[in-house]
Amino acid sequence: MSLKLSEIDRGKLTPMMQQYLEQKDLWPDCLLFFRLGDFYEMFFDDAVIASRELELTLTGRDCGFPERAPMCGVPYHAAESYINRLVGRGYKVAICEQVEDPALAKGIVKREVVRVATPGTVTGGTNFDETKNHYLVSIYADGGYFGLAAADLGTGMFEATELIMGHPRDRLVDEVCRYDPAEVICNPAFFDDVAREMVSNRQNAIFTIRPEDDFSRERTQVLNKEDVGPTDLKARAAAALYQYLSDTQKSVIGHLEPVRFYTLATTMGIDVNARRNLELTESYRERSRKGSLLWAVDRTRTAAGARLLRRFIEQPLIDVGEIRYRQEAVQEFKDRFMVRQELRETLTGLFDLERLSGKVSLGTANGRDLTALAKSLQILPALLSALDSVTAASIREKIADIDPEQDLADLISRAIHVDAPLTIKDGQLIADGFDSQVDQLRAAARDGKDWIIALEAREREQTGIRSLKIGYNKVFGFYFDVTRSNLPQVPPHFVRKQTLANAERYITDELKSMEDQILGAEQKLLQLEYEVFIRIRDQVLERVPALQRTARSLAWLDVVSSLAELADRENYCRPELDYSGALSISDGRHPVIEKVMGAGEFVPNDIQMDLDSQRFMILTGPNMAGKSTYMRQVALIVILAQIGSFVPARQATIGIVDKLFTRIGASDDLASGQSTFMVEMNEVAQILKEATPRSLLILDEIGRGTSTYDGLSIAWSVIEYISDRRNLGARSLFATHYHELTDLGSIMPGVFNCHVAVEEQGGEVVFLHRIEPGGSDDSYGIEVARLAGVPSEVVTRASELLSQLERENSGRERLKIRRNARPMDGQLDLFAAVQVNKEQDGLLSALADTDCSRLTPLDALNLLHDFSRQAQKMRGR
Ligand code: ADP
Repeated sequence: MSLKLSEIDRGKLTPMMQQYLEQKDLWPDCLLFFRLGDFYEMFFDDAVIASRELELTLTGRDCGFPERAPMCGVPYHAAESYINRLVGRGYKVAICEQVEDPALAKGIVKREVVRVATPGTVTGGTNFDETKNHYLVSIYADGGYFGLAAADLGTGMFEATELIMGHPRDRLVDEVCRYDPAEVICNPAFFDDVAREMVSNRQNAIFTIRPEDDFSRERTQVLNKEDVGPTDLKARAAAALYQYLSDTQKSVIGHLEPVRFYTLATTMGIDVNARRNLELTESYRERSRKGSLLWAVDRTRTAAGARLLRRFIEQPLIDVGEIRYRQEAVQEFKDRFMVRQELRETLTGLFDLERLSGKVSLGTANGRDLTALAKSLQILPALLSALDSVTAASIREKIADIDPEQDLADLISRAIHVDAPLTIKDGQLIADGFDSQVDQLRAAARDGKDWIIALEAREREQTGIRSLKIGYNKVFGFYFDVTRSNLPQVPPHFVRKQTLANAERYITDELKSMEDQILGAEQKLLQLEYEVFIRIRDQVLERVPALQRTARSLAWLDVVSSLAELADRENYCRPELDYSGALSISDGRHPVIEKVMGAGEFVPNDIQMDLDSQRFMILTGPNMAGKSTYMRQVALIVILAQIGSFVPARQATIGIVDKLFTRIGASDDLASGQSTFMVEMNEVAQILKEATPRSLLILDEIGRGTSTYDGLSIAWSVIEYISDRRNLGARSLFATHYHELTDLGSIMPGVFNCHVAVEEQGGEVVFLHRIEPGGSDDSYGIEVARLAGVPSEVVTRASELLSQLERENSGRERLKIRRNARPMDGQLDLFAAVQVNKEQDGLLSALADTDCSRLTPLDALNLLHDFSRQAQKMRGR
């Protein structure tokens, strides 16, 4: 079975194999499922791969050579699950069907690929998460700029943007990661761009290169957009995506919405690090929904609502008006418990209208899907009347978009059989009384069966064979079954058809002619039911745009009422939003940790920041005190506020944050082979490049990844840079272990200190998790080690060493921040202060600044030593 395609003369293959290869050549990067009777077969390399991936037996098939072609196959009725498994592992599968009736075919039955399943176009299957969108992303690269389009085939979402400002590559990575696609299509130029590697490092997706022509300007016409210019990169990405969907689905993608062009400037910028670190939609380690912000706040009742809430969280708004539009709806639903309850109750009965519309338009909807659609529509009048008295303008606008489509619901419920099966070719699809022809054929088939029962009784009587039965099988049709002992009683008009071990089977002319009628009627019935069904489905298809609008409104109502439920149950408050630059929260809580801990356990905390005297918080406190919890909590509250949600606090005023950055913990990026410190510095560099004065920066332990003095200097200069308005002046929270840095609070404008309070009770440290003004001095590292269960021997020895070090180094241990603090001149030079000191003037002023009365002898000696070293250096120059 080592027959290799590349080594054989294809002309010598059997005609069927040649037909196979013609199709395979059209889809070289796909596994080809080739329909042969009741099986899909795979051959050659495809067979080897599929047998390995699906644990199928690898066999062989005669192909015109002495050696057989490797082959394996799956039964057609179970194909979907095999296809899903392959696609789930990143393969693409082309499904090649018989496209003419084998009975009518002359020669080999014609076969064609009717659909290509790819990772980016999956719309169902086991393990399919309906609470999120599944995107296919298209990227068009042109000279360092990018067009980006994304579509969700299941729901019809289709949007595009371009990355042409600032740092296009970084933004592209952020945006692609936000979509989290399983598949990316791109032009050849993108495949060679460094951005492709950047995306690959972050995102587990398969890449498919599409011909440059697919991305050409001419192709953008298919989008029906008027304002597409020659340099419109997003339209090109969108056009190629549309083409790819048409190519793979082999049908009109009718439910794909007209592409929505958007700009990144209309939503909060959250880069991929911040998204992951803040655990917005999945936890950092397990990458599970549990433990994420989404998990903590999601009270939606429908899958479409869950998907929309996820999108809200992924893209907080920056326009106060838009945020208030949502807030207004949340407020009304929060205030009106009864209305909310009624709405949420009704929502529970809804099926996924968005995805059902998608199925209708992809031609995969079956009878049950239509029934589900009708049931959902039938709920809408009650839902609308529950909302009758609602006054919020935003809710009223959404209600206006809901079309209950009662005629359609009525048509479906009259037409579709209540027990319709999953298939649409096996009958029992159309309800009795809907179509007279269907009724007639059904009666004929049913009457025929009654007639058979009557005939059985009659012949039993006449022959006297008490066990005489009429049976049916596919090969012989209807027959009389006579057991061996009764053979002498068989009458002459019985014609023997088949002999079994214990019985003989007979037919009669009468039985045969009835059989033709019954089977004819059944055959016709199946065909007719199918046709009627398609007619109904086409009528639904015409209403898909309206159904989608309805579905989107319902999803929106689900989200805002879910946020209202959350606000009400969890005691959230409505935040004030403005453009003031304020960040003021009273009794703020961490939405996720609070939920995990249980009510009342979590210690609430305040924050008071602005763009003026309180813009840069240096937060100190021992490990485990609650620094990172506090900083994340502030970030999450800002995000919740900007999606229009209420927030876990007593009161909050949030000046809009345009971008949110985090530099948190050790997110070791092992894949890219960089050291933790390098990663940390990369992230810092990125933040300093991209932040604006309206951004919010969460910086945890900057400089920890290197030696003390290195780290301290970096942390220090980063603080100087960020807090200086001439550079940035953005609101920042900076947690640090370097207590020396708290001195900056009294020197630098805008910088202030806070610490997490701890209490020592009987020699033990108690964490109060309370944030208080001012810096802290003690790091309690040893106490934390003790709490963590480090053996007491080690802890005691550590205490001894600490005292010794403190005695020996008091004075030197602490860097002379005050002395080195550089004037706020707006120039960033990492060691500017040190350089000044190298000059004579610096040395003189340092001497002048020295307060001898406050120096210990050891301090004085150290200082003298420093000075004399510097003087010697100067002389040496
Ligand atoms: P740090 O960053 O200072 O090392 P963390 O923020 O990781 O500390 O918090 C340490 C632990 O304290 C966490 O397990 C958290 O559950 C708990 N904690 C933090 N803040 C609070 C709070 N405000 N109320 C109750 N528990 C808290």
